[in-house]
Amino acid sequence: MSAPARATPLPTPRAPSPASLCCCRKSPSAGGRCAGEYPAAADGGSGRRPPADVASASNLVDFRLRHFHLDLRVNFALKEMSGWLVLDLVPLVAGVRTLVLDAHPSLLVHAVDCETSDGREPACLAFRLEPFADFGSALNVDLPDPVEAGTHVRVTVRYTATDGPAMWWLDSELTCGQDRPLVFTQGHSVSNRSFFPCFDSPAVKSTYTAAVRVPDDVTVLMSASRSWYSKAERVFHFSMDAPVPAYLVALVAGNLQHVDVGPRSRVWAEPCLLSCAAKKLGGSVERWLTVAEGLFGPYLWGRCDLVFLPPAFPIVAMENPCLTFIIASILESSDFLLIDVVHEIAHAWFGNAVTNATWEEMWLSEGLATYAQRRITTEAYGAAFTCLESAVRLDALHRQLRLLGDSNPVSRLQVKLEPGVNPSTLMNLFTYEKGFCFVSYLSSLCGDVRRFDGFLRDYISQFKFQSVVTQDFLDLFLATFPKAAQEEGVDFQRWLTGCGAPPCEPDLSAGGTLTGPVRDLIRVWTRGCAPEPQEEAAATADLAGWSTFQVVLFLDCMLDHTPLTHEVMSRLRACYASLLDGLNAEVQVRWLQMVVRSLFYPDVPRLNDFLRKHTSRMYTVPLYEDLATGAMHGVAVEAFQQTRQRLHPNLRRTLQQILSQGQQDAHARLTPLRPPDADGVSLRDVNVSA
Ligand SMILES: [Zn+2]
Repeated sequence: MSAPARATPLPTPRAPSPASLCCCRKSPSAGGRCAGEYPAAADGGSGRRPPADVASASNLVDFRLRHFHLDLRVNFALKEMSGWLVLDLVPLVAGVRTLVLDAHPSLLVHAVDCETSDGREPACLAFRLEPFADFGSALNVDLPDPVEAGTHVRVTVRYTATDGPAMWWLDSELTCGQDRPLVFTQGHSVSNRSFFPCFDSPAVKSTYTAAVRVPDDVTVLMSASRSWYSKAERVFHFSMDAPVPAYLVALVAGNLQHVDVGPRSRVWAEPCLLSCAAKKLGGSVERWLTVAEGLFGPYLWGRCDLVFLPPAFPIVAMENPCLTFIIASILESSDFLLIDVVHEIAHAWFGNAVTNATWEEMWLSEGLATYAQRRITTEAYGAAFTCLESAVRLDALHRQLRLLGDSNPVSRLQVKLEPGVNPSTLMNLFTYEKGFCFVSYLSSLCGDVRRFDGFLRDYISQFKFQSVVTQDFLDLFLATFPKAAQEEGVDFQRWLTGCGAPPCEPDLSAGGTLTGPVRDLIRVWTRGCAPEPQEEAAATADLAGWSTFQVVLFLDCMLDHTPLTHEVMSRLRACYASLLDGLNAEVQVRWLQMVVRSLFYPDVPRLNDFLRKHTSRMYTVPLYEDLATGAMHGVAVEAFQQTRQRLHPNLRRTLQQILSQGQQDAHARLTPLRPPDADGVSLRDVNVSA
C-alpha cells in the first residue's frame, strides 16, 4: 500500500508487544488440507491456530473458511450493493453454536440461512448485530445445534452494503470524465467488514468467487485471477483462485476501458485518462515483473493489471492482488508513478503471497515490500537512483522523529494494538522505513545481497499463501545464516520493540552523485542570507537537469528551514518559478507549502490555481493543514468554497475539520491563559510520501 502524501495523525500505543512465538498457517488451497493441518513450518508442522486479533469481533479461531462467494447487484442511484454472501465453513471445535462475523452498522442484514453436510434440512438462522468498535460490529448467528467438528457448513447471508468506510460512491462530477458514476472499495485495514460480513483479519485467507450485476455500459473489475462477462445474463463473474485475506478483496465499477501494456498486464482507466496511463506504463510493468521474478521467484498471481482511479481515491495506491488500484493524480509525476507501481508489484510477494498475521506487525508487509521495491529499482535503474529515493524517505523519517521524540511508542516495529483502536492508525513511516532499515541490516549481516535475495525467495516459497508472524521470518533467517547472526550478536528485540531511530541505516553513499549537489545547494540557500547572483545562476542551471526526487529532496530540506525571509523566497522564485511551473504536482505542492509557511503573498495566485486544479487528498490535505493555522486561513476558506462540490464527501469533511481546528488553534494562540497541550504532537510539519 502506498500511503497519502502526508502522515495521518498517529495514535499513542501502550506497552510494547513481545516478539510473538505463536503463528498462523492457512491452507494454501480451499479444497486442500483438513482443519488445523497447516503446512510444515517453524514449529515442525503441528496445527496451530491464528493469533488473537483484537480488531476482529469474529470467532475466526472456531472455523476454517474454505471459500466464499459474493452475488451482488450494484445500484448507483441508491448507492447500494445488494445480494448475498455464501460462506463455506468447517467448524474446528465440537459443538460450536455461534458464528460471529465482522460486520458494520452500514451493512443491512436481511436474512441468514444454512445448510450442513450431515443431512439436515436447510434452516433459517437467528442473527443479531451487536456493537463492537467504532470501525465495526459483530454479526452473531445462531447455528443449528450441535454442529460437529469437520461438518461442512454453508451459511448464506442476504444483505445490503450502503455507504460504509469501504464503499466509495462517486457521483459523475467526481470522476475524471464527469459523465458517469463510479464506485470502488478500499478494504485496508478493517474496512471490508462494511462491504461484506467476514472474518476481517489478515490471519484468515480463502479463495473467493463473485457475480456482479451492473447497469449497461458499466464495467466491473475485482482483485481476482479470472474474470468473464456473461452477455446473456449481463453479469460479471470473478474467481480468485489463490487464498487472500478479506482486506485484499476489492471491486471497482464504472466507465472503464483497457489497453494491454504487456503480456500479462493491462491498464484500466476512464477513457479520458487511458492513453496517458498506457503511454506512461507501456512495457514497464513487464520489465519490473521480470526483474522481481529474477530476485524473489515466480509471480504467483497470473495477471498484473492496474486500474487508475479518480482523485477521490483516498491513498496513492493499494496492492489488491491481480489488480493494483492507483490514483490518477500520480500520472503527473513519472518518478513517483514508477516507485509506487514497483512498490505495489513488490507486495505481490511481500504482503499478498505472505501476509502479516496480525496488524501489529505490518512491517512484515510494508518493510519487506519497501526493501523489495528498492532491490527491483536497483537492478532496473541502478544504485544511485535507488539511494536517492531512499534518502528522501529516510529524511522524512527523521523529520517525523524530530517531532515525535525518540521515545514515542509509535516508532516501534512491533506495536501493541489495544481493543477499540482502528489498526489503520498503526500505518506510519516507521512501518515502511524502519522496517526497510531492519531488512537491510539483516541483508548486511549475511554479507552478500544476492544470498539474501535467495533467502527471501526461500521465505516466499515456504510461506506463500499463508499468514506469518515476525518469529517465522526470523527463525528462517537464523536457520539460513546461523554464523552471521552469531558473529554479529544480533539484537532483534532492540529493532522490533525499541523506540526511536533505526539502530543503523543502510549505506546510501552510492547515491552521492545525485544527493551531493542537492545538499550543496541547500547550504547555499540556508546560510542566513540569499545567495549571490552568480551562485543563483549556477543553481538554476543545476536544477534544470535534476530528477524529480532531487528537486523533492531539495524542497523538503528547504521546508525544514521555513519560514524563509521574503528576500530569500523572492530570490528562490526568481530562480525557479518557471521550472516549478513546468514540474509535476509532487514538486509544486512542496513549493506551495514553502509559500504558505513563509507567508509569501506574491505566489498566492499560484496557490489558488493549484487548489482549484487538484482535488486529491494527497495534495489538498497538506496545503490546507498549513493554511488553516496561519495568516492565510482566508485563502483556504475561499478555495474550499470554490471547490467543495468537486470534493468527495469524506475529503470535504476532513477539510472542514482542518479549517475549524485551525480556527480554534488560532484562537487558542490569542488566549494566553490556556496552557499549551503538552501531549498533542502536531504532525502538520511532517511531509512524507510513503
Ligand atoms: Zn505498501
